[in-house]
Order: sequence, then C-alpha cells, then structure tokens
Amino acid sequence: MTEIATPTTRADHRTESHAFTAGDGLPLTLVRVRGRTEPWRGPVMLVHGAGVRAELFRPPLPRTLVDALIDDGWDVWLLNWRASIDLPPVPWTLDDAAAYDHPAAVRYVVAATGAGTIKAIVHCQGSTSFTMAAVAGLVPQVDTVITNAVSLHPVIPRFSRLKIRTLTPALTRLTPHLNPGWGDKPDGAFARLTRAAVLGTHRECDNAVCRMVSFTYGAGRPALWSHANLDDATHEWIRGEFGEVPVSFFAQMERCVRAGHLVSVRSRPGLLDDYTAEAPRTEARFSFLAGEDNLCFLPDSQQLSWEFFRHHRPDGSDTLHRLPGYGHLDVFLGKDAARDVHPIILAELGWDA
Ligand SMILES: [Zn+2]
Repeated sequence: MTEIATPTTRADHRTESHAFTAGDGLPLTLVRVRGRTEPWRGPVMLVHGAGVRAELFRPPLPRTLVDALIDDGWDVWLLNWRASIDLPPVPWTLDDAAAYDHPAAVRYVVAATGAGTIKAIVHCQGSTSFTMAAVAGLVPQVDTVITNAVSLHPVIPRFSRLKIRTLTPALTRLTPHLNPGWGDKPDGAFARLTRAAVLGTHRECDNAVCRMVSFTYGAGRPALWSHANLDDATHEWIRGEFGEVPVSFFAQMERCVRAGHLVSVRSRPGLLDDYTAEAPRTEARFSFLAGEDNLCFLPDSQQLSWEFFRHHRPDGSDTLHRLPGYGHLDVFLGKDAARDVHPIILAELGWDA
C-alpha cells in the first residue's frame, strides 16, 4: 500500500444520501461518501448483507475500507438494498434484490456519475443476490465484482444445515422474522423466548447482540468473526447494526443449500431458475474473497464459485483469495483488515489500470 500523506478518517467524510426506486417501486437509498478531495477514479458500489445496512462498511475503526477507497481515488457509493435495517422491513428474497434492487442501483450510479462502467464490492447476501443479477446479465455496466463469503454456492457447516432444515418450517409458522437485536431489545413473547434460549447456550461474550448474531447466522461462537479480530469499540458498535431478517430469506437459503447452488423461489423478470446451469452472462471480472475460518459460509462456497467461473472463462482473469485468520465479517470489521485485506481489494479494483 502506498503511504498517504494525511489519511482519510471518518471526520473527513462528506456523506450524501440519494433516494431512488427499485424496479418494483420500492424506495431504496444510496449513500455517497467523498473525502477532502474529489475522486479521480470511477464509482465503486458497496453492497451489505442480510439484516444490516450500508454503515456496515464504516465501523468505528481508525481506518475503514471506505477510507482506503477514498484515498485510492474511488468514488464510493454504499447501497441500502431492501434487506437494509435503515429501510422499512419487507419479506424479501434474493430474487427481489437481484431483479429489482441491484440493476436499479447500478443504473442510478451510472446516471449520477456519467461513468461508463462501475465496480462493485459485495458481501454475503448482497453478494449472492448481486451475483444472481450479474450472472443473469442484468447489470452489464459492472466490469469488476469483488465478492466476500458466498456468491453462487452456499456451503454451510453441518450444524447450520441441521438448524436451517429443522427450524425454518417451524419459524415460518411462529414469526415473520428473526432479529439479533432481540439480544438487547426483545419485542414480544417469541423474541424473549428466543433470547433466553440463545443466551443460555451461547456464553462466548457479554454482548447479547453478538451472541444472537451467532445463533441467527452460523455455527460458531462467535459465527461471523473471531473476538480476537475485533477491537472493543467495534464489538460494542455491532449492537446497533443488526436488525430484522425475514423468514422468507431463510426459506430460500434452505433450498439453495439443499441444491448446492443458488435457485430462484419467486418468478421475477430476467432471472434464471438455476444460476449454475450455463455460462455466466456477464463480462465482469470476479474476485472471490473467502475467510479460511468462516463459520457462516465455509470457504468452499467461494472456492466452488471461482471454479465455476474458471471453467467457463479459462483465461484466468477471475481470482480467489482465501484469507487465513479471517472469518465472515471481520474481513471488513477486523482491527487489522486495513493491513491484511484492504491491499487485496485495492489491487483487484486497480487490476485493469
Ligand atoms: Zn461477542
């Protein structure tokens, strides 16, 4: 990484919120973040996962990925797609996001910036749904996709498979959503019962939201990071960053896990039934990131998707980075991510320069 005279910090961010409309009329937002100077490179759109929000990429670290992108000249756009906890909750599926949210967001950024092409950094269910849109040919303006954790092939730990298979049908009858935020604020009898069951079996730390996150999203204690990778401020900050995730999503993921690859569950214009049945309808170069210790989606998830792309595009331009010592979200939230992860992302973004 090149030395920057005065590195960008959160205090330098100039944040603008842009309202736009998804393809089915749902109101969404994009958050544009600029630093002290104007960007001299093109737009990069960052896409969060399920039940979080655009702020995921701005944890209270001395240096975030957003800071690193700004200092590298990129025009940074953070998407709040329909899974965002900053928007009114809806029973979304990956199909809705792939067909309606990501194509509209990409069109908005292209129109707002006048750029011919854009790049995307996509995480978890932001990645699965964005990769669906890309593979179906719905975001032709995107020339580079950097994906973390999972894209076309969800491979989850054995305990998670058991949990999603047995719990999803029951959940469908009991609640419209789960919410790791119940750790601090349980609303109603089901929330209080779930909280008590989780806190009684997860004793890995004293942060009730962190423990609820591990129950909701994986098989580890914790599931989405290692405590050793988080500083205290970030571990505390996550209390406010996890909210509702609808059971409609878990029902789709259960089917995808069973199939071994993404499948659509709602008929939406332009989507595919099976995302691995044919060559990807995209010219975007893909770079796959996989934390070796990921206990939400095992690193084989990204390994398989990279091999799928390589099979169809043997020129070797798509890349895979398996990250030792990293799990699911500490790839972005880790206290050493600036040293270990940001250089990889910046190099992949600048690959064609
Ligand atoms: Zn914790």
